[in-house]
Amino acid sequence: MNKPLSIPSFPRLQYGVEIVPVEEGKVLLRSFTGSVMLSGDFVAVVLPSLLPLLDGRHGFEELAAKFDETLRPEIEDFLTLIQHKGFLGKAALHGREDDAVMLSSKDCAYWSLYGASASEAARRLAQSTVVVAGLGDVGKIVATILAASGVGNLVLVEGATPSARSGGRQEAKASEAEKTGLSLREQYACRVMTIPTTINDAAGWEETVAAASVVAVLSDTMSMGGYDRANEVCIKHGVPWVSARIDRQRAIIGPFVIPNQTACFACFEARSRANADHPEDHEALYRHWKQLNGRRDMWPSLLPFAGIVGNFVALDLLRVLAGEHLSAAAGRIINIDLPTMERSVHEVLKLPRCPACSRLRDRRPTKIWDIIPTETRSVG
Ligand SMILES: [Zn+2]
Repeated sequence: MNKPLSIPSFPRLQYGVEIVPVEEGKVLLRSFTGSVMLSGDFVAVVLPSLLPLLDGRHGFEELAAKFDETLRPEIEDFLTLIQHKGFLGKAALHGREDDAVMLSSKDCAYWSLYGASASEAARRLAQSTVVVAGLGDVGKIVATILAASGVGNLVLVEGATPSARSGGRQEAKASEAEKTGLSLREQYACRVMTIPTTINDAAGWEETVAAASVVAVLSDTMSMGGYDRANEVCIKHGVPWVSARIDRQRAIIGPFVIPNQTACFACFEARSRANADHPEDHEALYRHWKQLNGRRDMWPSLLPFAGIVGNFVALDLLRVLAGEHLSAAAGRIINIDLPTMERSVHEVLKLPRCPACSRLRDRRPTKIWDIIPTETRSVG
C-alpha cells in the first residue's frame, strides 16, 4: 500500500539549487533555504539519473518507472526530504507554465524565487505600460532594459525640445524617442509609442498618464522639465511616478511617488527648501531647473554613470511591476555619489498641507478662527 505523498505530482528542482560533488558517492545540495549532504549507494547509483528528470515535466509515476521497482521507496523518501528542505519548486501545471512566458530562463528563475511565479511575472510585465520621459542616456537605458525584460508597452517621451537639438534648424530629423522606439520594436516583443516633444507640450498627456502603470521622468542633467506636470497629473490619476537626475558627480533618484500614500515631488521640494540655508536661492534654482528642457551636451557626465542610474531605475521598476515589490525609492530620495559609489537615503515625509497632493489642497488655508467651535464663537 502506498503511503500518501506530500511531494508535488510533477516535481521540479527549485531554481538556483547547486549540486556539489564532494567525493565519490557524496553530494552536497545547496539552496537559499539550506543545504543537505547525501551519501551512499543511492547517491552513487540513482541520483545522477534522477536529478535531470526533476524538471517539472515528469510525473512521479514516470520517474519511478525509469528505475528498478525496489528503488521506489527510496526515491519517495528522497523527494520527501528535499521537498521538506525547500528544494522543490512550486508545482507547475505539467511543466507548461512557461509556455506563454516571453522571458529569458534567468528571468524566469528569478521571478519564480522572488515573485509570485515566472508566468505571473511575465503576465504582469506584458500588461504593463511604462511612460519613459527624457530620452537622454539614462532614459534610453531604462527603456531598453524594460523592453528586454518583458515590459509589454512603452511610451517614449522625447523630453527635450526638438529645435534645440538640431541647432535651430527645423529639418525633419528623427527624434531620440523615434530612433529608440524603432530599435526596440525590432529587437523585442514590445509595443512602443513615441511622443517627440516635452511633457509640457505633449498633447494628450492626461490620457497617456491615465493609461500608464508607472511614469519615469529621467534626465542626464539637473533638468526638471515636466516634473510639476508629471506630479500633478500622476496624482490626479493615481499613477505612481519616479524621477532621476544627475548633478555632476551625484545622481538623485526619487522620490518614487505613490499617490495618496507617499510624499510627492512638491512635498520633497517644499521640505528641502525649508531646510535650505538660502530658501530664495533654492527657489530660484528649482525654477531654473524646471525650465531646462534641452539636452546640454557640455554637462559633465560619464556614460557608465548614466548606466548605473538607468539600470537602478529599470531594476526598481521591474520589481515593482512584476513582483509587486515596494520601490526602493518609495517616499525617499536615493543619492549615489560617483567618486565613492556610496549611496545615501533620505526619507521624505508627506507635507500635511502640500499644494499638490494633500486631500485638503483645494480648501482655503487654515486660519486661527477655523478651529474655534461655532457655539463658542463670539458674535459681537
Ligand atoms: Zn505633496
